[in-house]
Amino acid sequence: MRQALASSLPLGNGALRLAAMLHRKTARLLLLSLGGLLLVAALWLALGRPVTRKAAVTAVQGEAREGGLSLALSPAVANVRIVEARVPGRPLVVIDPGHGGRDPGAPGASGRRLEKDVTLLIARELRDRLAERGRVRIALTRDGDNTLTLEDRAAIARRLGAALFLSIHADSAPNAFARGATAYTLSEVASDADAALRVAKESGEDAVASVRDGSVRALLADLAARDSMAAGADFAQRILREAEGEVLLRPEPHRFAAFRVLRRAEAPAVLFEAGYMSNAADEAMLLDPVQRGRMVEALARAVEAEAAVRR
Ligand code: ZN
Repeated sequence: MRQALASSLPLGNGALRLAAMLHRKTARLLLLSLGGLLLVAALWLALGRPVTRKAAVTAVQGEAREGGLSLALSPAVANVRIVEARVPGRPLVVIDPGHGGRDPGAPGASGRRLEKDVTLLIARELRDRLAERGRVRIALTRDGDNTLTLEDRAAIARRLGAALFLSIHADSAPNAFARGATAYTLSEVASDADAALRVAKESGEDAVASVRDGSVRALLADLAARDSMAAGADFAQRILREAEGEVLLRPEPHRFAAFRVLRRAEAPAVLFEAGYMSNAADEAMLLDPVQRGRMVEALARAVEAEAAVRR
């Protein structure tokens, strides 16, 4: 085009050169603008990235805080006492008396006793018996009438690196004839409708494990939970073997449910329902020192044997 113009308009050579020069300038301007755009993009990336990184770090710290040890825990957690074993290096067993404080648990058939008192009674006697023999280290999640959340209880087990976690409860049912002890272990799916109901009843709204979020953290927690689930089932079987003939058991006494407290403890965990508060004979059994002593002895033997395996 330029050639054609040059040949047909010989006198317009100066104008043509001007046009060509303007054209080059436009090209240079375009190149400069492109360079500018690239520079802006590079600056945006350089400045934008640290901001993104900072946000990510904050999020991780937030997660750590959420699952942390001391923050967001009730003051009761700070007062956990560990009873040492005779020999150093023994596994630690965390015994968790269900309910407590503002959460009374199930009322007794007699109307005079509450589940929270019975669970503390059993837990203290179990601790004392284990302490006497000195084969394991022991800690109670509460040693008084304290209000603890499920997360507090699980956090104590995690913070102390519990080898075993045993949560003690006493059942209640609309059927006043229902009797006997049950050992619950963690499962994704409840073994029966009754077990599913137990989760809701024992632990309030935050009892059921939350929906998995798909993060790496959740995945690792899941794998660890699966490991603990199998170990928890072994622990329950051992408790029931020791209790056989000593403690009245329900039919099919080993049941499964998605207890959050068991999952979050991150240790082989059992929720032991010692009997029915709603049944007069079971309540009397739980309040009788001799009969309760037989149950405590069975639990102590199971704890010691299971702890020996987990060393
Ligand atoms: Zn309970």
